[in-house]
Amino acid sequence: MPDTLIKATAADGRIRAVAAFTTETVNEACRRHATSPTASAALGKALGAGLLVASATMKDPRGSLTIRVMGDGPLGLILVDARANGAVRGYVSRPDTYLPPTPHGTLDVGGAVGRTGTLAITHDNGLGGQPYTGTVELVSGELGEDFTHYMATSMQTPSALSLGIFVQPSGEVEVSGGLLVQLMPDAGDEIAERLEETLSKLPSFTQLARQYGSLDQILHAALSGFAVEILHTEESVRFECPCSTDRVMRALASLGPTEIREIIEEQGQAEATCHFCNEQYVVSREQLEELLVNQ
Ligand SMILES: [Zn+2]
Repeated sequence: MPDTLIKATAADGRIRAVAAFTTETVNEACRRHATSPTASAALGKALGAGLLVASATMKDPRGSLTIRVMGDGPLGLILVDARANGAVRGYVSRPDTYLPPTPHGTLDVGGAVGRTGTLAITHDNGLGGQPYTGTVELVSGELGEDFTHYMATSMQTPSALSLGIFVQPSGEVEVSGGLLVQLMPDAGDEIAERLEETLSKLPSFTQLARQYGSLDQILHAALSGFAVEILHTEESVRFECPCSTDRVMRALASLGPTEIREIIEEQGQAEATCHFCNEQYVVSREQLEELLVNQ
């Protein structure tokens, strides 16, 4: 199951659906941040939700979302940047958060995130318009419900979001992904009721992934009884962070000569770590001195 995302419509455009496999993407995020299984599940779900919501709501591939989940649990902040073109990055404040499994044997995402707090999403359409931010209170901290609540209230779009992740005891993410189904304003009660009935019988996303193995089949199962039209397949779902040595150098150069001299005298070199991808950058004394010459 390579990381992919597909967009579809059903019932002549009155239903919109997006499904994604994100296993490799989430594994890379978890490796980079050395997350515990509980933190992996929370970060993985947030990365998946970001990709699904960005793809469902952004018309332009340059569109992006910045998601901040701030609950009162031990995990602290979850921050995710997701683009409509399939690129996503993110981190959690405390990646080593460990909680015992729930009574159902699942990883305790709600306990790690916290039951109260906020979910804020900044929407940037990628076309130069002013980004806007919507904020809602958390419902359960399980993330799927919280994003559903966000879309129903902040975006006035009735939605069903199923996020699935299974983390093996070794810490490896075996399967991760999700399914988002949205009802368009002109759908009407009859379609809404039929869809609700179908979705209420649908197994969890992890079970669907194991049962069908393809997003196309998962979408057809989720929308059975409706005529489904696949609109777009995005093959390049990936963890991606635009940080680079160049960017670090530019940031250092913007500090000005006095501060650069201070860094040279006090630390000998400059070190920086990207929050989003945990990449570490070391800028040597020689490189710092070059910045001074070039200023
Ligand atoms: Zn980075």
